[in-house]
Amino acid sequence: MRDTQLFQLALGINSPWFVAASDFDAEKKRLDIEIDFKSGARFSCPDCKAADCPVHDTAKKTWRHLDFFQHQAFLHARTPRIDCSTCGVRQVEVPWARPGSGFTLLFEALSMTLIMHMPVAAVARLLDVHDTRLWRVVHHYVETALAEMDLCALTRVCIDETAAKRGHNYISLFVDIDARRVVFIADGRGASTVAKFADHVDAHNSDASRIKEVCIDMSGAYIAGVTENLTEAEITFDKFHVMKLIGDAVDKVRRAEVKSRPELKGSRYLWLKNDQNLSAEQKAARTSLAAANLKTGRAWAMRLTFQDIYKEPSRGWAALMFDRWCSWARRSRLEPMKDLAATLFRHRDGILAWFDSHIANGLIEGINSLVQAAKAKARGYRTIRNLKAITYLVAGKLDLKLPT
Ligand SMILES: [Zn+2]
Repeated sequence: MRDTQLFQLALGINSPWFVAASDFDAEKKRLDIEIDFKSGARFSCPDCKAADCPVHDTAKKTWRHLDFFQHQAFLHARTPRIDCSTCGVRQVEVPWARPGSGFTLLFEALSMTLIMHMPVAAVARLLDVHDTRLWRVVHHYVETALAEMDLCALTRVCIDETAAKRGHNYISLFVDIDARRVVFIADGRGASTVAKFADHVDAHNSDASRIKEVCIDMSGAYIAGVTENLTEAEITFDKFHVMKLIGDAVDKVRRAEVKSRPELKGSRYLWLKNDQNLSAEQKAARTSLAAANLKTGRAWAMRLTFQDIYKEPSRGWAALMFDRWCSWARRSRLEPMKDLAATLFRHRDGILAWFDSHIANGLIEGINSLVQAAKAKARGYRTIRNLKAITYLVAGKLDLKLPT
């Protein structure tokens, strides 16, 4: 068998295309394969699909293909433009590559598979191509898959923000709680992110009124966004955010008290961590501080009591304990706890909604850690657009329809 025949079989190309020549240069470590079409061949119109259109002219093109053993491989072909009697002059698509791409479909599939597991920069080094060319491939596949995303089954959503870059850029992640995947990413963390999400749902075989449950933190922006745009959704305030607010209030009490009670210095974590996360020594230190009639000790006891509310068997019981807790905190003569009680009471329904919905942003935290890991691996995403594409790729469970 001649090498041209072998390559033709291996590439899987069919008439009128054929391998005309191949050139292997061991020194340059590259294989070049010349593809051509039979003279007089006619092609179908890419637009109206009319068959047998005559060739108008041709242009030389080159595509990077999968390596030939340890050597880079390139395909070359003159690509025809046809003259369609209906549409006019049109570019013919070749079967081994997407229009406009300098890579073959198989090379793109390999790149995408690697990018799902490695930083883009590392894949670029490995494949010896410039990373901006790989980013273009990433955006193509991600955007195509996103356009076809079907959200008809989406009813429960977690919303949370994550820092896009060091500094002040944020993105908002919208996660399907049941499918455990990121379904939308918006720039910023304002109320308008939820409006954009509602539009996105409307545009993907569903409508925003199908969203019944939403889990968010107590940020006014998300509350306003959900209230205005996801009108059928009941809000559950994320219990981890609630507990974090309480922890922050306890620490405010401690910081105010540390001036008069120096033994509190450096004790921050003793009051914020749960027992199972403290060493025996830390636990002993906290027990002796807690016995010392400190304001911080009282605030800490309130935190523990609030934590226990989440163990109540029903929303009714929890509501009773919640109201009792709020009046205790209001009468505590500890300013941070009084402020906190006012805040929590304003958000009472959404906090208690947890007892029906049982949704929390723990899932999004898991997705967040995927995103953080991807960020760390890709060191310097350059643009938020790139970060969003990688996030969809690692956490979106997209159907990329990669060529095989
Ligand atoms: Zn046509």
